Amino acid sequence: MPDAVRQLVIIGSGPAGWTAAIYAARANLSPVVYSGVPKQNPAPVLPGGQLMLTTEVENYPGFPDGVTGPEMMQSFQKQAERFGTEVHQLDVEKCDFSQRPFTLHLSNGETVRAQSVIIATGATANWLGLENELRLATSGGGVSACAVCDGALPHFRGKRLAVVGGGDTAMEEATYLTKFASMVSVIHRRDELRASKVMQERFLSQPNAEVLWNKQVADVLGDEEITAVQLTDTVTGETSEIEVGGMFIAIGHTPATAFLAGSGVELDESGYVALATRSSATNIEGVFAAGDVADHEYRQAVTAAGMGCQAALDAERWLATQPALQGA
Ligand code: NAP
Repeated sequence: MPDAVRQLVIIGSGPAGWTAAIYAARANLSPVVYSGVPKQNPAPVLPGGQLMLTTEVENYPGFPDGVTGPEMMQSFQKQAERFGTEVHQLDVEKCDFSQRPFTLHLSNGETVRAQSVIIATGATANWLGLENELRLATSGGGVSACAVCDGALPHFRGKRLAVVGGGDTAMEEATYLTKFASMVSVIHRRDELRASKVMQERFLSQPNAEVLWNKQVADVLGDEEITAVQLTDTVTGETSEIEVGGMFIAIGHTPATAFLAGSGVELDESGYVALATRSSATNIEGVFAAGDVADHEYRQAVTAAGMGCQAALDAERWLATQPALQGA
């Protein structure tokens, strides 16, 4: 890697990162994308992000017949490369934003300098960590960490579905699923939900809603598709089994911000990048963020892509106000 100062480095390769790259490349910013190194955490974390673990995407506009998550990310990358985006399958492990140009430390031991940076590293869903859970999640076997993404697919309709978790996300996902399922069984490890009262009531007021209290999922059954979950009672230790046609894990997300430790980028109380209102600007001038790494509310491919567009436009406008950087 030559030691030239890059105008814009984009860290991450989900819908936000690629969309930022498409816009930045078309604006002649010669963006460089660090797309990340595949890892296991405990489900696979792949360049391309969460969509790499999604089978069918039916809610992204422009794909009336649906598209698989991996196919969609390949198309995004191809489109970014068509306009001259440079892509490296490396992690950014550490950022020095204390002076400009910024210095980023890469997983191959090299460093790269950049006038501006877009952080688009996403967030990963938390999993229970059971072998069969992860196997069926990655094979499209009816286990998912996103009901809004996958819940409307035909094979979940009319079946009993399990949702694991007791927070707002679990309530939101469970309420959404009541539209399609014969019964939605929330499996919660305590006798009290963490979710806000209003979200609880929204779910519990549905005729096909129930909570299985003090239960932890011990195993997930099914070869090609999930057929049942084994439960352990967290109070009595008793085991039981319920037949289900799908299981949605809603036990929180972890934003990929560990590499920002010590960088000075402000994070919110949950560890997500804090942004200015209606802007992709972080607290550090020249550093922007987009997608799930800065959004625990919407977490959709289309909203992440929209944020990627905003970040590229914000970076372009900011670079234009820095005459000393022109042609760097
Ligand atoms: P959360 O509030 O951290 O809740 C996670 C839930 O998962 C908790 O009930 C927790 O149980 C359970 N859990 C965690 N690890 C578990 C494990 N290993 N096994 C079984 N259960 C486990 O996460 P969240 O629901 O994703 O919400 C994150 C933030 O986003 C919150 O601030 C929330 O208010 C916000 N949010 C807001 C909305 C909305 O207002 N529309 C929608 C979604 C999210 P315990 O309760 O026993 O700890």
